[in-house]
Amino acid sequence: MPRPVSYNLIQKPLEADLSMAELPEGNMGEGFFATSLSKVVGLARKNSIWPLPFATSCCGIEFMATMGSHYDLSRFGSERVGFSPRQCDLLMVMGTIAKKMGPVVKQVYLQMAEPRWVIAVGACASSGGIFDTYSVLQGIDQVIPVDVYVPGCPPRPEAIIDGVMRIQDLVEKESIRRRNSDQYRALLESYGIQ
Ligand code: SF4
Repeated sequence: MPRPVSYNLIQKPLEADLSMAELPEGNMGEGFFATSLSKVVGLARKNSIWPLPFATSCCGIEFMATMGSHYDLSRFGSERVGFSPRQCDLLMVMGTIAKKMGPVVKQVYLQMAEPRWVIAVGACASSGGIFDTYSVLQGIDQVIPVDVYVPGCPPRPEAIIDGVMRIQDLVEKESIRRRNSDQYRALLESYGIQ
């Protein structure tokens, strides 16, 4: 006996299922909307982040759950996970990073085009975690600049999503001139990046 189909009997309007991107600040009138280029670019970037997962250990498993259907990172426009640094703009470092891996993390970061952002997911990537040893990097911010730190060992998928949403806030508010500023250049130079 086939199972009776009981779903989709009540048709909901399509808009009720969609969460729409909010308008940036601007002036609106009949037939026009005026805002700044930075805000439009920020809105587009915010809702189309392409993550590059750099997962070395247990925190990577939490990321797999975050990408799965239950937590579904694609709700934030971030479902396009890439494994070529040249096509991604969000580096997510998840797991213990041994000192030998430090130059590799930096190499991946250097291969990403600007603008690029970085999340340190979990205690190990943020601070070395429980591995206060001679062989483990005590935080990836010793080799590359980090925008958001997600605490936890491991962080739950909700915490990773919270980290992505904080990146979205940064991306939305970032001026398109920031990457050419003296402060940003000085930040990169402090990491030995030209
Ligand atoms: S923070 Fe904890 S769960 Fe994450 S990689 Fe380190 S030891 Fe594993």
